[in-house]
Amino acid sequence: MINIPKGTKDVLPQDSYKWQFVEEKAREIAALYNVKEIRTPVFEHTEVFLRGVGDTTDIVNKEMYTFLDKGNRSITLKPEGTAGVARAFIENGMASLPMPVKTFYITPCFRYERPQAGRLREFHQFGVEILGSSAPETDAETIAMAKEFLNAVGVTKLTLKLNSIGCKDCRPNYEKALREYLKGRYDELCDLCKDRYERNPLRILDCKNEECKRIIAGAPKIADFLCDDCKKHFERVKTLLTGVGLEFTIDPDIVRGLDYYTKTVFEFVSEEIGAQGTVLGGGRYDRLIADLGGSDVKGIGFAAGIERLLLVLENSGKQIPEKSGVKIYFAPMGERESEVAFTLAEELRKKGMVAETDIVGRGIKSQFKYADKIGAEYVAVIGSDELEKGKANLKKMSDGSEKEVDFRDIYEFIK
Ligand code: ATP
Ligand code: MG
Repeated sequence: MINIPKGTKDVLPQDSYKWQFVEEKAREIAALYNVKEIRTPVFEHTEVFLRGVGDTTDIVNKEMYTFLDKGNRSITLKPEGTAGVARAFIENGMASLPMPVKTFYITPCFRYERPQAGRLREFHQFGVEILGSSAPETDAETIAMAKEFLNAVGVTKLTLKLNSIGCKDCRPNYEKALREYLKGRYDELCDLCKDRYERNPLRILDCKNEECKRIIAGAPKIADFLCDDCKKHFERVKTLLTGVGLEFTIDPDIVRGLDYYTKTVFEFVSEEIGAQGTVLGGGRYDRLIADLGGSDVKGIGFAAGIERLLLVLENSGKQIPEKSGVKIYFAPMGERESEVAFTLAEELRKKGMVAETDIVGRGIKSQFKYADKIGAEYVAVIGSDELEKGKANLKKMSDGSEKEVDFRDIYEFIK
């Protein structure tokens, strides 16, 4: 027997309606905000992520699915969506489009992680990238959109955590102060954070290690180091969010995993699942496009993990509406009847009604059983009588009531 690779999952036909529901909501909300879909390849040249995500991140250091293709090129399966969108933006000259360029994607992502609840090696993201604006209004609209999406999906008990991590002008001062503070306690840090100390000390702030957390509690806060521009920007974002009644808590330890973030960063955290509570995260990235070789175009975006969203919905007992099922099942008694049943079913389908008939050659009794199992609303036996009269006896499965209906009127009757 061949098994599925570790950290991957099948979405089976009896569950796919849940995925379709979340994806439909994503598309609906994107349309409301005039955000258009972008599709980029599942794999890119590794360089895109080295430069786009950053070589001090967990993703690039430990989690990437990287391999040489037959042409000896280093290829990586996308671990996230933003870098590919940025690459496409530059490559397709999208800077000449009216700004901002508002894009969204629904994509598989690949990270070599230790699988656990809400953490997979192949997972899926709904992401939004808004490119070409540095204004705080863009941050507010993006965050509001994220919230609307989560509302539409039906996720409740959420906290919006907000922070600003400054820019290339003010962050170095903070990093200096942070290193200064951590210097005396370096030996107490976990191995990962020891490594982060030089390369990316900000990441120590969101370490999950208890000892590191305790050390960090007393660390200087970035809010006290922001330059005037970053401070003003952050205040404006907060004012705009408050104006639309969007509640948030300022969390000075939110830094996000990716190197490219500047200024606003945020996370929506659910209380319904434990350690993997972050269902959606995002932030502003004012240097990404330039770092990848493009012009000075700034952006902001977010990504939500679809598996995590479904986990939250499940844990909160939320019912996802299943699309209406089979309206009518035609049960033919013989070969000639089967041709008529096939024709009747096809006619209804052309009109947009879900109809089924026997396509495996079941006997009439087991056809009834089958119709019941697939939840058909009506069953109509097609025998020689029915063929002669051009009428069918429609049996309503919920109460057993029957009604004789002309073949031509079945659609109208059921509708
Ligand atoms: P975490 O702190 O949980 O590792 P992250 O900071 O690595 O998350 P992002 O890179 O910001 O996550 O990705 C955005 C979203 O994608 C996350 O909030 C989460 O919902 C989802 N996600 C990230 N990694 C995984 C994974 N391995 N399996 C399932 N979902 C994931
Ligand atoms: Mg991660």
